[in-house]
Amino acid sequence: MINIGVLALQGAVREHVRALEASDVHVIPVKKVEQLEELDGLVFPGGESTTMRRLINKYGFYEPLKEFASKGKPIFGTCAGAILMAKELVGHTEPHIAVMDMKVERNAFGRQRESFETVLKVNGIGNDVPGVFIRAPIIQEVGDGVEVLAEFEGEIVAAQQGPFLACSYHPELTDDNRMHQYFVNIVRKNTVHA
Ligand code: GLN
Repeated sequence: MINIGVLALQGAVREHVRALEASDVHVIPVKKVEQLEELDGLVFPGGESTTMRRLINKYGFYEPLKEFASKGKPIFGTCAGAILMAKELVGHTEPHIAVMDMKVERNAFGRQRESFETVLKVNGIGNDVPGVFIRAPIIQEVGDGVEVLAEFEGEIVAAQQGPFLACSYHPELTDDNRMHQYFVNIVRKNTVHA
């Protein structure tokens, strides 16, 4: 069976575990660097990106996560997780794990609309995907190799670059598991078990 980890330093971990388990994969909450070895794919959950980054540094995850990505192992980031994946962050000099060619702005929907729910058309998934946005980022720009999967009011809110998938919203907070299934398919295609 395929092993998918959920980085469990901070944020909505349990919800991702539940959503992934619906796809019949083995899910591992990842608290120690050694656990990365056994994974075929990894989820960066939502939460607070600066806190998550602080814990990534504190527990020695920074280099191992960069290495995980450089091997082309699939990563799915939601909300704060997507922020961790961006190579460029508006208003920040340094990115975090920096695996996708995209420029991301944090908390981009403003105070009036800190949290809201909508229905999204997501390429390859459906035109009725629930989007729960909580102090969500937007993807301002993407590079050539990045496919835009969803937009909301003209702003990019989901994108894929090869094995890397990012969205601004929280599919794990709904009972619609299609985004997770889509990621599991990426992992399955990427994984050749001997
Ligand atoms: N605003 C948060 C951040 O900048 C992300 C919010 C979320 O993950 N729900 O990290």
